[in-house]
Amino acid sequence: MFLVGSGPGDPELLTRKAWRLLTDADFVLHDSLVDDALLDQLPASVEVVDVGKRPPDRTSQADINDMLVDLARDGAAVVRLKGGDPHVFGRGGEEAQHLAAADVPFEVVPGVSSAVGAPGVAGIPLTHRDCASSVTVVTGHETPDKDESALDWDALADTVVSGGTLVVLMGVRRLSNNVAALRDHGVPAETPVAMVQKATWRDERTVSGTLATIEAEKEAAGIEPPAVTVVGNVVDVRADTRELLDR
Ligand code: SAH
Repeated sequence: MFLVGSGPGDPELLTRKAWRLLTDADFVLHDSLVDDALLDQLPASVEVVDVGKRPPDRTSQADINDMLVDLARDGAAVVRLKGGDPHVFGRGGEEAQHLAAADVPFEVVPGVSSAVGAPGVAGIPLTHRDCASSVTVVTGHETPDKDESALDWDALADTVVSGGTLVVLMGVRRLSNNVAALRDHGVPAETPVAMVQKATWRDERTVSGTLATIEAEKEAAGIEPPAVTVVGNVVDVRADTRELLDR
């Protein structure tokens, strides 16, 4: 049993190990952020199961956990393939705990997380000696059953004000709430912000602005999930390199 990261989208960003395990697998269980271009390249002997469909067809986490255990107990070679890195907001930890509780041996194969890869391909370095010495990755979309935000917005705002970079995953729909939270906790309106949509896919797009303008930029461009939002001065580095990057 292998919990494998597929990277942000471009099949060439898969690790060699991931590719070897995928081609040798009996079953590949994947979620919605994995590109068909990759799955189409697998040998016919591999049974590909989409467990990441949108509701109402979505397979519940409990069902996925049970499928993984059942297949592994049958002796099948199973790859659980997840977008980006399995352990960055991918519920890989929950699946790992479930496998461990069922005594199923498994291995984790890291992937290029969109948290790092999306800003990277858009020309935004997460750290920079001149303007950012730390990176914080958060979810912009908390589980609905939480009464209060599990995020400490005071601390997040402090990070940005003191020059750190904030990366928000799953933050497209709640962009305005997150922008308001940062502003309310003292982050200046002119702080640079960028959104990178579908990084490394054919329809990759990036918009940038400031905390004051990013919502309008997002609306104007029609930015949809999946996208990564980056807040901090590193966003400005993109303007210095963009011409060469796009060439
Ligand atoms: N495990 C994944 C993240 C899963 S959460 C990883 O490490 O990348 C899903 C969120 O990831 C999306 O809402 C979006 O914020 C981000 N994401 C995944 N793929 C992306 C891509 N190609 N471009 C931009 N954002 C992406």
